Amino acid sequence: LEPWEGAICANCGLPLAAEHLEGSATALCSDCRLERLGFDFARVYALYRGPLRQLILRLKFGHRERIGERLGALLAGVWVRNPRYLSLKSPVLVPVPLHPSRQRERGFNQSFAVARGLGRRLRAASPDGIQPVSSGLLVRARPTAPQTGLSIQKRRENVKGVFSVPDPRRVRDRDVVLIDDVMTTGATLSSCANALKSVGARAVLALAVARSTPQFPDLKDHAVAPDIDDQPREWT
Ligand SMILES: [Zn+2]
Repeated sequence: LEPWEGAICANCGLPLAAEHLEGSATALCSDCRLERLGFDFARVYALYRGPLRQLILRLKFGHRERIGERLGALLAGVWVRNPRYLSLKSPVLVPVPLHPSRQRERGFNQSFAVARGLGRRLRAASPDGIQPVSSGLLVRARPTAPQTGLSIQKRRENVKGVFSVPDPRRVRDRDVVLIDDVMTTGATLSSCANALKSVGARAVLALAVARSTPQFPDLKDHAVAPDIDDQPREWT
């Protein structure tokens, strides 16, 4: 479980292939150059492949909630090395919500499990910093179709306006960090960020365990876990 240490987009953390870096000291991906993402800043631990991908699949489909603690610890490592997260004032951790029907089916929200693991680590280091993660700050108002196979534009349309904040007082003027297991185009996290900002959240950062990007296709290592249904995570 090695963190990604190659080049990244300075804003959204997208791992970049080396040829994208020619002639630019601070690299930005095309989405960030065009200001298409709703959150202010994002980082991931590593690419969605290999042992990390297997762990995420076991968390989601093997109902191994304890894996959330381990993945949260990886995110704590990203957090404490990055001044953007360290500079937030009493940030609220907000896991990307599942639709209630999906959550009943799965039994738990994998992003909540990761966020709780992260919160515990951060509180152990600095007890006053972060409140325990609570669910329901952000809700998914309707189920969404699978994102897999959709163009970036269609992905944005698919998740536009599906998130809402039931009690805006809980996030107004607060710094928020959205937590997700896998980030792909950033469309889901953007939609979440837009909902939070529309009710007055101050800074909205994102932090995900893994990034799936066509620049670095998955290593289809099914042999490690042949019985796991590798259902696209976006069917939520
Ligand atoms: Zn970017």
